Amino acid sequence: MRVFEKVDQRVSFPELEVQLMKRWKDEGTFQQSLDLREGRPRFVFYEGPPTANGKPATHHILARAFKDLFGRYKTMRGFYVERKAGWDTHGLPVEIEVEKKLNISGKFAIENEIGVERFNELCRQSVYEYVEDWVAFSERMAFWQDYEHAYWTLTSEYIQSVWWALSEMWKQNLVYKGFRVAPYCSRCATPLSSHELSLGYRDNVPDPSVYIRFRLKNDPKTSILAWTTTPWTLPGNVALAVDNDIDYIKVKEGDEYLILAEARLTVLQEPPQVVERMKGSDLVGLEYEPLYPYSVPEEGKAHYVVDADFVSTEEGTGVVHTSALYGVDDLRLCQEKGIPFKHTVGLDGKFLPYVEKFAGLHVKEADPVIIDDLKDRGLLYKAETTLHTYPFCWRCGTPLIYYALDAWYIRTTERKEQLLANNNTTHWVPDHIRTGRMGDWLENNIDWQFSRSRYWGTPVPIWICEGCDEQRIVSSAAEIGLDDKADLHRPYIDAVTLECEKCEGVMKRVPEVMDTWFDSGSMPFAQRGYPRNGKELFEETFPADFISEAVDQTRGWFYTLLAISTLLFNQNSYRNVICLGHVVDPKGKKASKSRGNVLDPNYLFDNFGSDAVRWYFYTSTQIGENYRTGDAALKETVQQFFIPLWNCYSFFVTYARLDNFDPAQPQVPVRERHVLDRWLLSKLSGLVASVAGGLDAYEPVEPARRIHRFVDDLSNWYIRRSRRRFWKSQSDRDKAAAYQTLYQALRTVSELMAPFAPFVSDAMYRNLSEGKSVHLADFPVPVAPEDPQVEADMARARQGVEAGLAARDAARLKVRQPLASIALPGDPMPEEIAAIVRDELNVKSITFGAPEVKLDTVITEELKLEGLAREVVRAIQDRRKKAGLNVEDRIHTRYDADGMLVRAIERHGDYIKSETLSVTLSPGRDDGFDGEQMMLEGEQIWIGLKRN
Ligand SMILES: [Zn+2]
Ligand SMILES: [Zn+2]
Repeated sequence: MRVFEKVDQRVSFPELEVQLMKRWKDEGTFQQSLDLREGRPRFVFYEGPPTANGKPATHHILARAFKDLFGRYKTMRGFYVERKAGWDTHGLPVEIEVEKKLNISGKFAIENEIGVERFNELCRQSVYEYVEDWVAFSERMAFWQDYEHAYWTLTSEYIQSVWWALSEMWKQNLVYKGFRVAPYCSRCATPLSSHELSLGYRDNVPDPSVYIRFRLKNDPKTSILAWTTTPWTLPGNVALAVDNDIDYIKVKEGDEYLILAEARLTVLQEPPQVVERMKGSDLVGLEYEPLYPYSVPEEGKAHYVVDADFVSTEEGTGVVHTSALYGVDDLRLCQEKGIPFKHTVGLDGKFLPYVEKFAGLHVKEADPVIIDDLKDRGLLYKAETTLHTYPFCWRCGTPLIYYALDAWYIRTTERKEQLLANNNTTHWVPDHIRTGRMGDWLENNIDWQFSRSRYWGTPVPIWICEGCDEQRIVSSAAEIGLDDKADLHRPYIDAVTLECEKCEGVMKRVPEVMDTWFDSGSMPFAQRGYPRNGKELFEETFPADFISEAVDQTRGWFYTLLAISTLLFNQNSYRNVICLGHVVDPKGKKASKSRGNVLDPNYLFDNFGSDAVRWYFYTSTQIGENYRTGDAALKETVQQFFIPLWNCYSFFVTYARLDNFDPAQPQVPVRERHVLDRWLLSKLSGLVASVAGGLDAYEPVEPARRIHRFVDDLSNWYIRRSRRRFWKSQSDRDKAAAYQTLYQALRTVSELMAPFAPFVSDAMYRNLSEGKSVHLADFPVPVAPEDPQVEADMARARQGVEAGLAARDAARLKVRQPLASIALPGDPMPEEIAAIVRDELNVKSITFGAPEVKLDTVITEELKLEGLAREVVRAIQDRRKKAGLNVEDRIHTRYDADGMLVRAIERHGDYIKSETLSVTLSPGRDDGFDGEQMMLEGEQIWIGLKRN
């Protein structure tokens, strides 16, 4: 017969977790759980690849907790859940780390001091630097992943899949080179995509807000007033834009005149003296003096007023200063109107040499210098500071600028309707993301700028003929005479030239590499090496049933997965997605090194255990909200959930060992069990159904909270009310039923909890089921039919108890003092339920049908003696605990008292003996006894005890 292993009531969850982690490793539990489901239908999960060139942080626990939850759940439901790990290895995150390590910055240093070959070699090395930390971190939080077969975006196989993807888009005429204004990082010297742009917005950024006079050529006393927050664009000014239909006015200030929109009078410094009114159309064509000579074209006409469709009167002056190359609308307008333009700022974000006054200054450094210069020349009307939302480089934190340059684009706008349609058929949790954050993003879709003027990335596989500009895209290494072992990165790939089919000229690769988000968005097929390899496997595992990441990925990975798979396969690559909020500090502030509120994951694991951190994430708030994570919240999770759970478990094991309980013994039929058992099993069945239902719907919060409530019921009601059934010395059917019920509940709860809290559940389950891991078990099914009548009766009983206890409290009567009766409202309860209420309230009888709860507060001598006997029992139990006795130890008890206490002990001696496992109970002190003098209900008593 199975003997349960002894359970330490003062468990250390972190220690227990580390032991189990080792055990899983030794036994290969993860692999066993996969082998067990081999050949079964798949549940497909895609891992969003992290960049492993920095240590994992607390926010990395969050998405992994949810990923792991569903991997385990679906495995228990009989699916084969491959959990292929992946690593994002390219791009700016890696390059910037290497630049920092080398203490260099910028392209000149990379190309001329380090060299691209060495730079990329260092990038490659840096990618592996923290992989071991990440694997250890994942194991510590029980995130099961297959690292042995992980995909790496830097392999030739992966790169070729990405090339293939781009070439397929090329075939559909969706790839083009464009001269466009893009968000641009001057430090990284590369344009960024709109999804990268969206990753780096900051609020309340101070910037200059300046109003500039543009003096009319034929009337220098009159100026058109224009406004900007980017003074550095003023040397590049080529036009002023107005709206034909907006009302403008001319006002007199001193001996000068100003023109601006009537709706924007509030920007004036003096009360307006209007001298003339006009429409925007009246201004069109007026020429003005250029602020600087640098943007004066050698050919063509600039510096005059033009009409445009983007002018508004919501801010500024109703006149838009136009610098062709530093604004999306500006460039379009100048191209339409044929206004010539040239760059005043170079790719490094510094003014070009011919812009003499500011040459070599970075645009942000130049802002105050330009403002001073304009002020000196009487062209500054006023200067203020404004706080606004402004984008920064998502990797290096440099303020971005808008900058026109040649770059490569994917025409996603042409497939906007399909993107929206595919998004609409995707199940988003929370649902509002689908039409909200994600839907809005797709509605405002712009073409994907996917080329980066950088070094460490998948090279853009486009070659251009030097002779005739013919373009060619390459979709595999073989196509350009390379084998699979060749390193396809820069600078090697740059040396590969091709012969032009048209003119036999030399074709050279374009210098750019690809947006690293294109790599990760290609993982559904690229992780298999598709289409050259893994065709069957890809088809079997596309699309994913489930992915999960934080909400910022709506514009990152969630978008690139959707965009790429829509363009290639006309469907989304994921069916269900859980979109998580962020981990913040207890005050709701984002964690940052400068605030000093960063939580080290190992600190959390060592102090609370990873199960507690996971449980906190599952239960503390609805999905999509932020997680206010800190010591207090995690401590509460341990104290309010894990410790009560462990106490229930340890209670069971302690008594089951004493009584040699054997779960294999014949079961007492449920209908013949005590009402508490029937109630608990009914609750348990409801719990199983609702946890499964919630997880099937990708709504894990309520299931986890229900498990918590069930453990509350188990601990604060079932075990509390059933203790005596386990304590009694005779082994009857009722005792067997109690054991069978509690065993069933604990075993089922550990199964239900396995996906959520993999360590604690496994520790319990192994002990309850002859050493088998819960992660090799099936998900439980309801054990008995639900019994709504019993649940309703018990709910009423608990309400009655609550009301009765409140009445006792109001009358200042301890529960240990028996009372004659209580009257409760409502219909009579079945006797077995009423008995529980009587016992819990310590009353001799209950009557029903009363208008309100009424307690009989008369204490007869009989009741008083019984109450004192209970006090004596409690005092002896305390002594037993202090003496360190085991629950099953029998004792001899002696007492020394007088008056009522002696009478109480004599009258209720048998009761006291059986409650305290006293073999004898006799008067008089004895030195051989471990004794203590104390006060009970205002009277002196000495109680001593000795182990039998
Ligand atoms: Zn940057
Ligand atoms: Zn050619």
